[in-house]
Formats: sequence, C-alpha cells, structure tokens
Amino acid sequence: MPSAPQSVTVVGLGPMGQAMAAAYLDRGYDVTLWNRTPSRADALVARGATLAPTVEQALGANELVILSLTDFDAMYTILEPAKDAIAGRTLVNLSSDTPEKARAGARWVTELGGVHLTGGVLCPPPLIGTPDTSTFYSGPREAYDKHRDALEVITGKSDHRGEDQGLAALMYQLNMAIFWPSMIAYWQAVAVADAHGISASEIAPYVVENFAGMGHFVDFYASRIDAGNHAGDVDRTAMGLASMEHVVHTASDAGVDAAFPEAVRDVFRRVVDAGHGADSFSWAVELLRKKG
Ligand code: NDP
Repeated sequence: MPSAPQSVTVVGLGPMGQAMAAAYLDRGYDVTLWNRTPSRADALVARGATLAPTVEQALGANELVILSLTDFDAMYTILEPAKDAIAGRTLVNLSSDTPEKARAGARWVTELGGVHLTGGVLCPPPLIGTPDTSTFYSGPREAYDKHRDALEVITGKSDHRGEDQGLAALMYQLNMAIFWPSMIAYWQAVAVADAHGISASEIAPYVVENFAGMGHFVDFYASRIDAGNHAGDVDRTAMGLASMEHVVHTASDAGVDAAFPEAVRDVFRRVVDAGHGADSFSWAVELLRKKG
C-alpha cells in the first residue's frame, strides 16, 4: 500500500497536466483539478475528476499538489492570490525552468509553510503513465520518499538527484539542451531530403539508426573529456570542419535554409581558429566552457 493517500490535485492542464490527471484517474485516484482555462478540464471531469472553483479549494483538497505549468512565473501568477492555502501542502513543480528559478520558487513555497519538490519530466504527454519513463526530482528526500508511489504514477521511474531544488531543473535542462537541437537537426535533414523528393518516412529508419548510435559517442567521449584528453586520434576537428562545410553546401545547393548547420560549422571553425584543428572535435567543450 502506498504511504500517501490516493488523492491528488493537479494545477495546470496543458497537454502534460491533462495526461498526468488522466494517469491518476486510470489508477483510481481521487483527482482535483484547477486550470486558468477551465474548459480544459471537461474531458477529465467527464471521467470523474473534480474541477475546483478556486485555486484555494484545489490546494485545500489534497496535501499532494502537482503543478504542470509553462514556467515558474505561472506558479506565482496562480498561487500568489491563494498563498495562505500553501501551508501544509507538498507542491511538486513539474514546470520547466532554470535551476535558479526552481530554487527561488522552492524558497517562496517553503517560506509560506509548504513543501516543494522540483521535477523534470523526461517524456512527452502520450507516454505519461507508462513504465519506461522517468522524472528527475530534487528537494527534500523525505517528501520524495513519502510521495514516491504517487509520483511514479506520472512516470514509471523517478530519480531523486539531491536536496538542492535546482538539481532536477538542471538535469532536465541538460536533456533539453540536447533534445531541441537534435530535433532541429532532424528537421534540417528532412528539409534537405524533401528538396530531393525523398519523404520523411523514407529516411526515418536511417535517422532512428543514427540517433541510436549516439550512445556510442557519448560513452567514448565522457571519460576522455573528464580526463582532459582531446587527442585527435580518430576525429580531428579539421576533418569535422570540412564535413560540416559539406553539410552546409548540400543544404544551400538544394535551396534549403542553412542557418542551423552554419551555426554548427562555426563552432568547428572557432576550434580550428583557436589552433586546435589537429585535436579531437571534443575540444569544442573547452571553447564552450568559456563565457562569451
Ligand atoms: P503548456 O505550456 O501547454 O501548458 C501550460 C499550462 O500552464 C496550461 O495549463 C496553462 O493554462 C498554464 N499557464 C501558462 N501560463 C500561465 C499563466 N500566466 N497563468 C496561469 N496559467 C498559466 O505546457 P505542457 O502542458 O505541454 O507542459 C507543461 C510543462 O511540462 C512545461 O513546463 C513543459 O516545458 C514541460 N514538459 C512538457 C513536455 C511536452 O512534451 N509537452 C515534455 C516534458 C516537459 P491555460 O490552459 O489556461 O493556457
């Protein structure tokens, strides 16, 4: 039996909040909802959820409150007028934001007598409630342990990174720093393929294989970077620069916008200009470490 009661409040009903509330309903939880746009609760209410008329009542309904908002500023907009209702609640903020915003948000909740956990969900709405998904959490370990069963309704796995409220946000943002540019790189390849009459579906198996192979590169480079080893034994930056020039020109020859590959090419160029053309292209980490 879970140690926490099987009831929860979900504040924020974008695609993520709706999927989370639906997952709780699937598992038999009593679910209370609040959203700025109340109509977004309609389908969930039809399934048995309760739409609280005010945010105070939503907070009052349950100790465990899931926040799924665009960012932390939305939390203040929603909860500032209801801040007296925060005391005694555990607010699990699954909204994306910076580590500093997460720390500040957690301090605000704590000063008002609530408990705050920061979370970073690593899956899209259709995978919410499924077992092979995970969420980073940080904040008080005691609160995480108490609510772990309920939190693992949202994603089957969870990973408590530590007491620092910023850590879950940081780990999430590191993932996003990889995810978004990777997807733009994919759209870029789709646009170039399309310019040659080749569909997204046709290249899909090769793209999947390419992404699957990235793990090999991460494993190869991690220990070398940590050891400060940028030996260009297999991957000289000068080769990378020449290769990226080919990518840029393949796009521009096809009449496709080349701004994204040009930006990548420019990182290679800066490494070469810094005198590291014969080193591994992992030397780019040294370049990027320096601000400005
Ligand atoms: P949306 O931005 O679509 O939903 C945001 C929710 O926040 C809505 O309920 C919206 O209310 C509310 N909101 C935003 N601004 C305000 C405001 N100023 N005042 C009151 N309410 C506000 O996000 P998602 O549901 O897609 O995602 C939620 C969080 O999860 C985001 O931080 C996102 O980065 C993160 N995330 C999303 C993933 C995804 O694939 N969608 C994957 C992993 C994490 P209203 O309905 O009234 O507009």
